[in-house]
Amino acid sequence: MTNGKKILGEERRNLLIDWLQTSDKPLTGNELAKRTNVSRQVIVQDISILKAKKHPILATAQGYMYVKTERPAKASRIIACCHTPAETKEELFLLVDHGVTVRQVMVEHALYGELSASLMVSSRQDVEQFCAHLQSTKAALLSELTNGVHLHEIEAQTEEQLDSAIAALDRRGFILND
Ligand SMILES: [Zn+2]
Repeated sequence: MTNGKKILGEERRNLLIDWLQTSDKPLTGNELAKRTNVSRQVIVQDISILKAKKHPILATAQGYMYVKTERPAKASRIIACCHTPAETKEELFLLVDHGVTVRQVMVEHALYGELSASLMVSSRQDVEQFCAHLQSTKAALLSELTNGVHLHEIEAQTEEQLDSAIAALDRRGFILND
């Protein structure tokens, strides 16, 4: 498609917007770098430039997503959780198995106040990808900054789905109770 030729600045960024807007799944920095014959670092810079121009691009563990126009209001909630790093997969599985999308993780940080990251995890496959990515990058979970305490923004089609997901987490001892 690109004949191994480097695609330059503005043209490359226009392509990125186009691909992200039309893709039905997140695209990774590596994938975008391969398509444009530049390094992943250049893609990271491009995405920053596009975000500064107010393009609604979200960096998630699965890759970059172009946030399409707001979807119809769904049920959403913030929950306070606590678990060990090893229990991360189990927690996320419990949530997605109830039809819940985990939008964000947030923690309290001594220097930066609230830190948040987009997860956008909504299937077991997303969870597997997130956990594989976590392992391969040896990155630390945000919750490791706070001994496992973190918040999640979760959403689902119905309040009932959220209720039963939270009940399942609670039974497993993952919900922070006073
Ligand atoms: Zn969690």
